[in-house]
Amino acid sequence: MNQRIKILILEHDADDIEFILHELKKRELSFVHSTAANRAEFEKGLAEFYPDIVLSDYSFPTFNAMDAFEWKSTICPEVPFIIVSGAVGEEKAVELIKLGITDYVIKDKIFTLPGKISRALKEVRSGREKKMTEKELREIEKRLAEAQSIAHIGNWEVELDTGNEYWSDEIYSILGLKPGGIKPSKENFLHMVHPEQRNEVRAILDGAEKEQKPFSYSTRILQQNGDIRYVYSHGKHVFNAKGKALRQIGILQDVTETKRMEEELKVLNKELETFIYRASHDLRGPLSSIIGLTNVSKSEIKDEASKKYFQMVEASAQKLDCTLISLVQSMTMRDMAVNLEDVDFDELVKETLAQLKYHEGFSNVEISVKNTVKDVFKSNKLILTSVFQNLVQNAIKYQDYHSGQSYLKILISRKNGGVEIVFDDNGIGIDEHLQEKIFDMYFRGTSAISGTGLGLYIVKTGIEKLKGNIRFKSTKGVGTRFTVFLPGTDKN
Ligand code: ADP
Repeated sequence: MNQRIKILILEHDADDIEFILHELKKRELSFVHSTAANRAEFEKGLAEFYPDIVLSDYSFPTFNAMDAFEWKSTICPEVPFIIVSGAVGEEKAVELIKLGITDYVIKDKIFTLPGKISRALKEVRSGREKKMTEKELREIEKRLAEAQSIAHIGNWEVELDTGNEYWSDEIYSILGLKPGGIKPSKENFLHMVHPEQRNEVRAILDGAEKEQKPFSYSTRILQQNGDIRYVYSHGKHVFNAKGKALRQIGILQDVTETKRMEEELKVLNKELETFIYRASHDLRGPLSSIIGLTNVSKSEIKDEASKKYFQMVEASAQKLDCTLISLVQSMTMRDMAVNLEDVDFDELVKETLAQLKYHEGFSNVEISVKNTVKDVFKSNKLILTSVFQNLVQNAIKYQDYHSGQSYLKILISRKNGGVEIVFDDNGIGIDEHLQEKIFDMYFRGTSAISGTGLGLYIVKTGIEKLKGNIRFKSTKGVGTRFTVFLPGTDKN
């Protein structure tokens, strides 16, 4: 709904007031009015009626419109002031407008008044909006600058037509400069890039400019005080509807802290790995002696009770040995270089079964193997040995002693240029809610059967090293099927 315009009329002649009101009503202007005939009434009207606009006669017995305009300006400077008079000449009117009066209407042309009122009010409104927009803009700019400084991300822009370049304050800060410290330009930026990487960055920027393609890179900035900052930059072109590139825009992010933390983490990780590797290795020596000695003791000691204790010592030592082997395997698997060699799957299965034949429960499980891969397949034997050992061992460990005959079916065949190996057992199966975790390091699905929680982690790490994948399907109480896919290599 349009609000009614509040008009304050400064006029001492009642007929003239009628004359103005008559014209305004005729034009169906929606308004309310108040009148004033002297300074006191006028000032009261301004202070209490809050007019949107003032219409004033030009001359009064003791003052004139110019005086009234000044009084108005001290109370409500924004309110437009239109002179409605029969006496103002053209020259005088122009002079009045120069002094700040909004407009004037000669009584002869009173029909122009409604139009002039509307225009004056519109100008006030747009002036107010402009002020608001400028204020809002400054507010947004302030917030953006604050956000950039918190996130250590600056933005830059190049106008392609003019070559004008813009850097936000945060870019200067990342470069270790005062805002506006140097002219924003590619050359000035490259000058701040570490000399060892300058050419590389120049080539990236030149290439992106030429091909008008997005780019990103990480580099080091050498600040004037010698400090080094690690930065990440990303940029792209902005095109118009016709596909013409208008601007190149981008960000520069200071990632020094993240980089430092990453480096620290890498060192710590390396130290931890070395520690685990060394500890496992160094512990295995004495452990082998313990296992050997318990063996000797078992055969020489006649006392049955002592024999039983030695058997228990041996079992515990074996378990510890398995844990240490798994730990070493999981460490080496991640960092090892993958050498490809001829793999004979029949041989691999034979070796695996020979290794596991003394494992508890081995003889309970009927293991069948169908291998149709008879040609040469290049892969890494160490990784595959570990994959076979862990998956076959799990099928033995997690067999269901309460169901009929336990089985493990191994199927090896060519698929999609690679090799697919299926390990299908009818063991205890895996609870559905545990299934997403079984490849996690140290995850154990049950404490009833001993293990390290490293087997499937090692398997997955190894298979991924070979750029393959492993998936499984398991139903509790029915069984589990692991499917391994090894892609072919160029050498296959
Ligand atoms: P571990 O056997 O030492 O516990 P793994 O990483 O080899 O560790 O296996 C993780 C978990 O996955 C096991 O604890 C077990 O609950 C489940 N699991 C693995 N293989 C099988 C399988 N063939 N049948 C049933 N459960 C299995």
